[in-house]
Amino acid sequence: MSDQKKLNAVRQFAQRKDYSSLLQRVDTHGGHAGYPKYHYCRHCGTPTEVLTGDSVFDSYSECSQCRGLDQNGWIEDANRHYEGQ
Ligand SMILES: [Zn+2]
Repeated sequence: MSDQKKLNAVRQFAQRKDYSSLLQRVDTHGGHAGYPKYHYCRHCGTPTEVLTGDSVFDSYSECSQCRGLDQNGWIEDANRHYEGQ
């Protein structure tokens, strides 16, 4: 994996964090709002899934891009970059 690819991934992570900070979160996990249920990436906060009904399978806890960061061991660097910008 090239340095350029990592740099792009880290920059995009920061963009997703900025984007998700502007979103109005729909909290449907309290049980009172009913369906659909919105799920968000645990790393960057962007929406990952909107599900209706009781989920049979586990929902995604991270988006595809953050999963890639995580698998490459870059998620800590991405967080540091974001907090340092
Ligand atoms: Zn994410």
